[in-house]
Amino acid sequence: MEEHPEVLKIEQKFPSWRDMLKPVTEKDFKPGFYHYPILEKDAQALGIPYRDWDPLDKDWKLPPDWKETFLNKFKELLDKYRSLKVFMDICVRCGACADKCHYYVGTGDPKNMPVARAETLRSIYRRYFTKIGQIFGEWAGARELTEDVIKELYYYFYQCSLCRRCSAFCPYGIDTAEIVWRGRELLNSIGVSHRFSFISIAASARTGNHLGLLPGGVAGALQSVAEDVYDITGIEIEVPVNKKGAEILFVSPSADFFATPHWYVCMGYLMLFHELGLDYTWSTYASEGGNFGTFQSYELAQKLNHKIYEEAERLGVKWILGGECGHMWRDKHQFMATMNPPPKTLEDPVNPITGTYFENAAETKMVHIAEFVADLIKHKKIKLDPSRNDHWKVTFHDSCNTARGMGLFEEPRYVIKNVCNYFYEMPEHTIREKTYCCGSGGGLLTEEVMELRMRGGMPRAMALKHVHKRFGVNFLCTICAIDKAAFPHLLEFWKLPVEVGGMMELVGNALIMKDEDQERTTDLRGNPLPGRGEE
Ligand code: SF4
Ligand code: SF4
Repeated sequence: MEEHPEVLKIEQKFPSWRDMLKPVTEKDFKPGFYHYPILEKDAQALGIPYRDWDPLDKDWKLPPDWKETFLNKFKELLDKYRSLKVFMDICVRCGACADKCHYYVGTGDPKNMPVARAETLRSIYRRYFTKIGQIFGEWAGARELTEDVIKELYYYFYQCSLCRRCSAFCPYGIDTAEIVWRGRELLNSIGVSHRFSFISIAASARTGNHLGLLPGGVAGALQSVAEDVYDITGIEIEVPVNKKGAEILFVSPSADFFATPHWYVCMGYLMLFHELGLDYTWSTYASEGGNFGTFQSYELAQKLNHKIYEEAERLGVKWILGGECGHMWRDKHQFMATMNPPPKTLEDPVNPITGTYFENAAETKMVHIAEFVADLIKHKKIKLDPSRNDHWKVTFHDSCNTARGMGLFEEPRYVIKNVCNYFYEMPEHTIREKTYCCGSGGGLLTEEVMELRMRGGMPRAMALKHVHKRFGVNFLCTICAIDKAAFPHLLEFWKLPVEVGGMMELVGNALIMKDEDQERTTDLRGNPLPGRGEE
């Protein structure tokens, strides 16, 4: 991958709508933009048709009945999801979504305009499922389903992070992410599946988490986090794991206990729960909030999502508290109540410290950590010293899944402003429901599409550059594990000297703990605290 140039050249050439029907094929695939195919072991584990193929080969060795399988599946999805049929029918090509996609902004490729992305599938819909398309063919924007069209679908449906920014601007509410989701499902039905998501899905289905950690590994990792808390605070924390009869099940993305900067967030969880004396437990099976099935098919999303309620029932908890995850909250907010209804053993969540009844969580029985901490702060149940974060000038990145997926805008900001003295917003058109994706969501957090990721992350990086230059922002706070993994690469590429971290890290820094007998001299990363440690 090249260093980023002083001036980013974006060459744009707009084809006519009829030219748009000519598929981009393997001859046009650019390195850094196309995905590797699924591994045999993962395909077998998940019952996906497998064959040895390479996206750069002319012959993709599609199964003999691939066309019939694809069209039958398409019909099944159209019958099952009324939304898909509506989205296929109602686009008026107004273009309001066209420049709202970060991949279009970063690549200048007209086929990355959301409307054009959707047209790759809509053109097949017109040809096989509408009278007008059958009669007028390409004059009506219809095209034959060929192997080249399959190649184009694979190329462009994996240049979309399913972030839904475009849908926020569509006057008809067309959700291109849902179209892409169904398109990926169609591709999976003929074994045209990408590698990255399925590694995580297979591991998660087998062990409960993306890394494939067995129970001892999960418990051991959490113990290591507790030891790091001890090093900073001198407080020994017991980590409850698989504790039957606990009041609360806590679920976070597994990255929180195996990667940095997520690790500091996990330290923050343990410190807060210890300080509150919370009756809670981790689970070694529901050891992953992330769900890459969400970006492949409803069934795979359901399969992985299921374990959270299963564990809640098995452990006999009353309700569920969730950590800094993106996927989990999109699932929870958009699908969970119908995808996997909660077991009857669960109760409506009530904060045991404040008595607050979380009315918004009555249906799913799941409360977000930002809601939980905001409630504690509002009721003055925790003591905080925001000056311990004075070395950070903080901005907040709204993660697509928590922002557009569930509308969680105010709670994290309320928490951050109470634990930090310096907080600055990025420009208005890049935050809250208009937030830009990190560029690596929706199953794109993989090395082979690094150039796409760096280009797709450009709008977010430029918004961050603005507050870095203007206010000296040096800490990008986010409440999504994918963001925390993606941003360090992105910010290095765009040469932004800004650290990436989570809300609970900032809470952990500021939290005054009653068992702490010495004043802290470092933050959770071991950085000296301003005016207190060696600087
Ligand atoms: S904004 Fe909506 S209606 Fe307009 S082109 Fe985009 S998807 Fe179609
Ligand atoms: S969902 Fe996001 S990535 Fe996909 S087309 Fe829309 S804006 Fe682009």
